[in-house]
Amino acid sequence: MSLSDSCIFCRIAAGEIPSKKVYEDEDMLAFHDIHPAAPIHFLIIPKKHLVNLYDADIKEQALLGKMLGMAGQLAREQGSVDGFRVVINNGRVGRQEVYHLHIHIMGGPEPLGSRGPAPLKE
Ligand code: AMP
Ligand code: ZN
Repeated sequence: MSLSDSCIFCRIAAGEIPSKKVYEDEDMLAFHDIHPAAPIHFLIIPKKHLVNLYDADIKEQALLGKMLGMAGQLAREQGSVDGFRVVINNGRVGRQEVYHLHIHIMGGPEPLGSRGPAPLKE
């Protein structure tokens, strides 16, 4: 079984599993989270399979910079014009559920929960 068979986000990147796309280019894909934790909630993933930030060392700085560098524009285009929150869950302690690196972008018209970087699930 290849990686893209076993990893749901590799399958989304390959177009094998449908997603509500926000943006796509040769390096990255952004799509709406299936269980939104905010009025606007989408994920930015690299097309390349990286597990999380432990797996993304300095060699990936251009890719990581590009994903984060697009965040503001994409958030604004999705209607989050007055701020948004960025979360990256890593590993067991970070309560990562999907082991393909992804950046959560959460926003909406009103301020999000006030408890800092909100847990995505209680
Ligand atoms: P985490 O790994 O904890 O940072 O979160 C994984 C996120 O992926 C959760 O917010 C899920 O709702 C989301 N998710 C899981 N499967 C899909 C899918 N097929 N399409 C869109 N979002 C998904
Ligand atoms: Zn993957």
